[in-house]
Amino acid sequence: MEKIYDCIVIGAGPAGLSASLFLARYLHSTLTFHNNSARNQYAHGVHGFLGHHGISPAQLLARGREEVEEHGGLIEEGCVTKVDRLSDDRFRVTTAGKEQSTSTFEARRLLLATGLRDLTPDCPGFREFYGISVHHCPDCDGYEARDKRIAVLGSGTKTVGFALSLLTWTDRISLITNSESADINAHERARLASFDIQVREQSIAALEGDGPSGHLRGVRFSDGDLLECDSLFFNLGTEPASGLHQMLHCRLDPDCGLVWVDHEQQTSVKGVYAAGDITPKSQLAIVAAAEGAMAAIHIHQSLIPKERKL
Ligand SMILES: Cc1cc2nc3c(=O)[nH]c(=O)nc-3n(C[C@H](O)[C@H](O)[C@H](O)COP(=O)(O)OP(=O)(O)OC[C@H]3O[C@@H](n4cnc5c(N)ncnc54)[C@H](O)[C@@H]3O)c2cc1C
Repeated sequence: MEKIYDCIVIGAGPAGLSASLFLARYLHSTLTFHNNSARNQYAHGVHGFLGHHGISPAQLLARGREEVEEHGGLIEEGCVTKVDRLSDDRFRVTTAGKEQSTSTFEARRLLLATGLRDLTPDCPGFREFYGISVHHCPDCDGYEARDKRIAVLGSGTKTVGFALSLLTWTDRISLITNSESADINAHERARLASFDIQVREQSIAALEGDGPSGHLRGVRFSDGDLLECDSLFFNLGTEPASGLHQMLHCRLDPDCGLVWVDHEQQTSVKGVYAAGDITPKSQLAIVAAAEGAMAAIHIHQSLIPKERKL
């Protein structure tokens, strides 16, 4: 054990990097880990990030890493496999390196910014179109689908609401379930019908379109039918990218199952903060970055010695 960092940040997406930048600017010793699995790695461009609208995710993160390092923050690639709370003021982080080697690091504060993983459709063609004409987030990509023919993939009440939300941009919507039961009640079906949204429960054989450009032309069903569409939005859910919050026994938000935080971004475990997609707010890059900044401000406040406070 060489030193005790002021803060270890786990995750170098928008949330983690934004926190690391502020922590470095407060002159705190900060070590940030990532395992190269940012959530939006398949996105064509980050939409709606003021001043950076359309920037590629890789470029946004590369700039962020540069800014952190210019300010003296350390960023390491390594998968954090274990976190231990030694006291309210001391945490130990274990990372897995190459050839099963492990390393441990200690810090006075921890920030979890490990993000979410999307549950994605298991159908041929998906990867060719994902991030260009296949999306999961209307807030991010609805504008680009305005007036287009959209297929919405999913089932249940949540997917009905999801499909209705896309009416903001287009009224050419179909709901497809990929052979799952639609699980939609009569009232929901009537609401969909009132907007001319058809429900199709056949299984999907493949997504078809122009692979090299990523532009979808339609969904081919196993019975041979083709549903022509320009975009597909799926609503299959997400899961946390890591279970580190569980190791620390952080409380979960009862409504969404994500990591509960207070107004200072502190979890239910003193000294452990969380920011970005793993917390309950909207899952947008700019929101993650803002939460990271807020977490850093409060981590800094918590590290100021009593004598320096009134
Ligand atoms: C296809 C797609 C398109 C999107 N488009 C947009 C858009 O246009 N506009 C927009 O605002 N948002 C968009 N989003 C959402 C946006 O990407 C997320 O809101 C944002 O990335 C969340 O940032 P984050 O820092 O919380 O998590 P992430 O960006 O997911 O970063 C998580 C970090 O944690 C690290 N990590 C995870 N587990 C471990 C571990 N055990 N050890 C070490 N490191 C770990 C990862 O390596 C990564 O660095 C899109 C998402 C997707 C999937």
